[in-house]
Amino acid sequence: MPKPRTYQTEAIVIKKTKLGEADTILTLYTPHLGKIQGFGKSLRKTKSKMAGHLELLTHSQIALARGRNIDTITGAQTIDSFLPIKSDLELTSCALYATELVNQFAAADVEDHPIFQLLLATMQRLCEENNSELVLRYFELQLLGEVGYRPQLEQCVACHKPLKESTNSFSPGAGGMVCANCRPSQPFSYPLSREAQKALRSLQSGDYESVSGMTLTPELSHQLEVVIRNYIRYLLERDIKSAVWLDTLKAQSGPT
Ligand SMILES: [Zn+2]
Repeated sequence: MPKPRTYQTEAIVIKKTKLGEADTILTLYTPHLGKIQGFGKSLRKTKSKMAGHLELLTHSQIALARGRNIDTITGAQTIDSFLPIKSDLELTSCALYATELVNQFAAADVEDHPIFQLLLATMQRLCEENNSELVLRYFELQLLGEVGYRPQLEQCVACHKPLKESTNSFSPGAGGMVCANCRPSQPFSYPLSREAQKALRSLQSGDYESVSGMTLTPELSHQLEVVIRNYIRYLLERDIKSAVWLDTLKAQSGPT
């Protein structure tokens, strides 16, 4: 049976690319179609009625018409505009970071409902909770697990023995922790405190409710951010644009 010419989907707008004078290509993350692209005709004209419903970082119901190369957006209705995110520069950059990671890691046109749910919940948590560091660390570990890069945190990735409760090292190249004995064979690994290892394991294995009460001291928070960021940078083989922006904002607001 041929596919219907038009269809509707929920989506979070994760990227917008200008095209020509007034058009826009939107990258959308949807619950059942995964990451798709939509053509927004004349979206940048001032009289576009749809533009407000298709802003970056907005959750909307979207109607599309199938095209040969790309589907055209024919209608949009906001479900949640995540106003608290858009009225706070730091939260905006956190949400841009989350959507950039989804865009980088998710394959096009492959349904992955858990990623949609994780992204949606992350946006809601950024709006509701005053703990963006914890929200982002949880998001990162859960996303990595979902896209097949779950770091090994329970046993040494080299000798496969369970890790002792002590300072062990993380090796981005090997995708997990290495014990003290194996560290010499993993030159690009760096030590992680017991607290940081424990926090990573909780963030990886628990549901959000079970970790939401976790207290991250500035030092622990920094350790976690560095280890996960370096692992992601290794996997993507490049820097994450919005992470650089996030760091700039943090530096301006002083030490936390
Ligand atoms: Zn080992």
